[in-house]
Amino acid sequence: MEIIDNHTHLNDEPFRGKEQYYLERAKALGVTKIICAGQDPDFNERAIDLAHKFDNVYAMVGLNPDIAKDYNQAAEDVLVKQLQEPKVVALGEVGLDYYWDESPHDKQREVFARQIEVAHDLKMPVDIHTRDAFPDCYEILKNSNLEYGAILHSFNGGVDWLNKFLDLNVYFSYSGVVSFTKATEVHESAKAVPMDRFMVETDAPYLTPKPYRGRQNEPGYVRYVAEAIAELKDISLEEVAQATYANTVRIYGLE
Ligand SMILES: [Zn+2]
Repeated sequence: MEIIDNHTHLNDEPFRGKEQYYLERAKALGVTKIICAGQDPDFNERAIDLAHKFDNVYAMVGLNPDIAKDYNQAAEDVLVKQLQEPKVVALGEVGLDYYWDESPHDKQREVFARQIEVAHDLKMPVDIHTRDAFPDCYEILKNSNLEYGAILHSFNGGVDWLNKFLDLNVYFSYSGVVSFTKATEVHESAKAVPMDRFMVETDAPYLTPKPYRGRQNEPGYVRYVAEAIAELKDISLEEVAQATYANTVRIYGLE
């Protein structure tokens, strides 16, 4: 059995210098590949470095909504260069965040839409962070060319949003939230999501799934996310692993 953590921050502080150790722990749990997510120039660079250093690590790079206010041509030029590095498989994470609200909403929308165009020009999928912003996110995706696919990372919507986004070329990545007892809307969407449209992730070091909730998350724990979905869908862990592995390899074009 092989599972892929399709969105994790092995480039973040808690893992620094211990990446090999965490990759080995992941492997012991059946987690054989990870995609390390960038979010700003510094995180992007470190995601690329890790992808170049470790066989089973891939990278995505993007400029997140918090720093949308700083987006300009120079920033885009650096991003385009980074997107073309070997083993960079997607633009991400990019999107809208009306919860932390670090950049004006109109600027967030503009920079999000612009980066989707950049990814399309490079024939790459887009990994999306959206918080308290489903209506605007949906509008932007509906009006964008998603030929190469888009992934809603740590999808926390219910069946209504699932059904709306399913009409677009959008995939759903579930995180540890799906294992939380009170996340009933997410449970319903995980039950309903078609087998060829979802993936699993940790978003480590955040969003630790049960049974380790409250401790630091790590890429190997994506296994527990897959287990939670298997239980909800009333299928085996192997079936979830197989489907999500195939979906992840296909959408991100992994080797
Ligand atoms: Zn993330």
